[in-house]
Amino acid sequence: MASRPRPALLVLVVLAAPLFAGCLGGPLPSVDVLATVYPLGFIAERIAAPELTVATMIPSGAEAHHWEPSVRDIDRMARSGLLLQQGGGFDRWADRAIHGLDDAAPPHVVVLPLLDIDLLPEASFSGGFLQGVGHDDAHHDDENHTDGDHGGVDHTDEPHTDTGAHDAGDEHPVHDDGHGHGNEDPHTWLDPVLHAQTAWRVAAVLMERFPDATEVIQERTRAFVAELEALHASFEETLTDCALDTIVVSHDAYGHLARRYGFQVAAVAGLSPEVEPDPRTIDRLIRLIDERDIPIVFFEESVDDGVVQRIAEKTGAEARVLSPIESLLPEQRAEGADYFSLMAVNRDNLGDALRCQTTNPS
Ligand SMILES: [Zn+2]
Repeated sequence: MASRPRPALLVLVVLAAPLFAGCLGGPLPSVDVLATVYPLGFIAERIAAPELTVATMIPSGAEAHHWEPSVRDIDRMARSGLLLQQGGGFDRWADRAIHGLDDAAPPHVVVLPLLDIDLLPEASFSGGFLQGVGHDDAHHDDENHTDGDHGGVDHTDEPHTDTGAHDAGDEHPVHDDGHGHGNEDPHTWLDPVLHAQTAWRVAAVLMERFPDATEVIQERTRAFVAELEALHASFEETLTDCALDTIVVSHDAYGHLARRYGFQVAAVAGLSPEVEPDPRTIDRLIRLIDERDIPIVFFEESVDDGVVQRIAEKTGAEARVLSPIESLLPEQRAEGADYFSLMAVNRDNLGDALRCQTTNPS
């Protein structure tokens, strides 16, 4: 869609959607759970399919920050059972589409803004959180609540041991251009500990909406969170004893990840990847790489990597992919890659970039 319809028009468009959709190859199938972005769709898929049908709106290979839904996508939003939305400015198109649907949407279209996890006290998403939900059967009663909008966040009832969070201070200590989303960093899924919290929150909402699936969702969420916990442990193991403390990246998607594991991020562009690179920033990054002998600079799969390649050529550093895992490329999907496999590759690349001593345990 080249431009967004005004809300009044959008309602008409949605009412007429079956007609339009027919012209465009048929309506998209409605599903029980529709996620805006891949990381949320992955959670829903893992904890609720095949009992519930799950789909992700942003397709493989799309640049997630600037994607816009088609008429068919909006039609499917209106017909599906539940909409999971990341929030934090990442999928603002969903806010606009929902706003346009106000009068026409069936009441079961539910929005789940997830990013307010950032506003929670640090302890509630620390390593203690994972220990609470991952290992101790005594806590499982706490998971069985179905408080829709704000549920799934507080599953621990004992003092937290802070094994996960190294306080790295300022989230963006080197890079400080002013980019569009204020201080909100929507890329919560890149921190496995935050992603576990999101999983429990998604589980709570799904159990409320689909109570028949409660048991299976609980069981699968426990298993999913256990996998995230293992991933977290492997990051901690890989990223200890590192000679460097700063990575250079094209797109500032790694604030949560960096805060969790105690390193810093110097970024060419902002929280959204398509910010025009500032020549002074690039000069500063080149100096940083030279001074600290940083071996690797990172770019991401789905965005033009010209600037990073130029920095690599000027400094002799190697350019590698660090995936923000915002959507899967078609070839990644074909290879069977998923959140966990891409995170494992990220972990190993980070270990190399930070010159860490520990080799990958898995
Ligand atoms: Zn991003």
